[in-house]
Amino acid sequence: MKLFESIVRQGPLTTLPEPETVRIPLSCHRPDIKCGQKMARGIHIGGGYYAPISGTVTEVHPTYICIKAEAVDEPSPRDMGALSGNELRTALNDMGAGLPEGPAQTLIINGVEPEPGVTAFAHMLDELSRIVQLGLSTAQSVFSPNRTVLAVEAGASQSLDGCEKAAIENGYPNGIDPLVAKAITGMENPDNVAVLSVGRLFELGMIMDTGLPCDKTVVTCGETDFVTTVGTPVDLILTTAHQTVRHGDTVVLGGLMRGEAAHSLQQGISKDTYGLFVVPKGQYPPVEDSPCIGCGECIPVCPARIDPATISGYAEFRMYDKCREHDIDACMECGMCGFFCIARRPLLQYIRLAKQHLAQADTCKLNDQGEG
Ligand code: SF4
Ligand code: SF4
Repeated sequence: MKLFESIVRQGPLTTLPEPETVRIPLSCHRPDIKCGQKMARGIHIGGGYYAPISGTVTEVHPTYICIKAEAVDEPSPRDMGALSGNELRTALNDMGAGLPEGPAQTLIINGVEPEPGVTAFAHMLDELSRIVQLGLSTAQSVFSPNRTVLAVEAGASQSLDGCEKAAIENGYPNGIDPLVAKAITGMENPDNVAVLSVGRLFELGMIMDTGLPCDKTVVTCGETDFVTTVGTPVDLILTTAHQTVRHGDTVVLGGLMRGEAAHSLQQGISKDTYGLFVVPKGQYPPVEDSPCIGCGECIPVCPARIDPATISGYAEFRMYDKCREHDIDACMECGMCGFFCIARRPLLQYIRLAKQHLAQADTCKLNDQGEG
């Protein structure tokens, strides 16, 4: 029996049954998949996405593909146990792990919850610790660090074998990776440091345990944390968590600072969705494309010490090169600027849009250079 299947969860973590239909969210990628095609669990769909269940493709949409569960012959899992170092990194990345290149002198495991109200990391450390511990030994084999540190909120009891423990001062956005790295090393953007979240260790542990891409994630919704299959529709999780959505409410995937509004209750969650929140209509003033009033409130709250008002203004008018001149790449996407914006401008959304355009432009330049 696989380790994950043998773990009896006795705490607040609840496992949702596998859904009959999954919608796998896609970003900027249209896979070469057709309706009616049979997909086995773990098969690469394209662009770093994998089928989380076996079944038949019933819909191919520019932003998701839908699979209805059905028995399909599955490929043999890969034996990961004999791999180490770069060979292991390549195999993990082939299964969607996205690990950075190179060794790291210091490996930081970020166990600080990604946003207020999310409790997924603490429950992974408490109840899925054997999988997380397997992920840790895997990461240590890949990065060969001299030092491994688990960062947790001050006062948290969780720990991991083989890790020093460092307390991070409570308060958002102190738990964001670059700020955790600075708190532990004393340096901004330190060299030779790799930061992986507890969620990422869970993913690595699952790949090692099953020999397949990780198709589970842990999501906080209401009072409960759910172990769910990637692609599970939002409404299934909300209903199980006894969360009611009324007309005009907003459902947020992720957290309230950095998350994205769901466009449909049938939308599937991604492997990075750590929370689901229902924001009642009228609780916050709506965000709108109103002009900046130049109050400056967004500038002192920015932990990257950049000027969100100026950058978002350039992004709004598609002057993306100017965004880069004003150090948009330093933005950690914490969402603090938008939270404090009196004019309720969608600052983080403008910044993400500009980053996406700049990344696409960079890719085109690289491709042109390659052809030249
Ligand atoms: S999201 Fe806003 S506040 Fe946060 S780092 Fe980026 S610009 Fe600064
Ligand atoms: S907080 Fe909003 S309105 Fe004020 S300067 Fe920043 S972007 Fe402009």
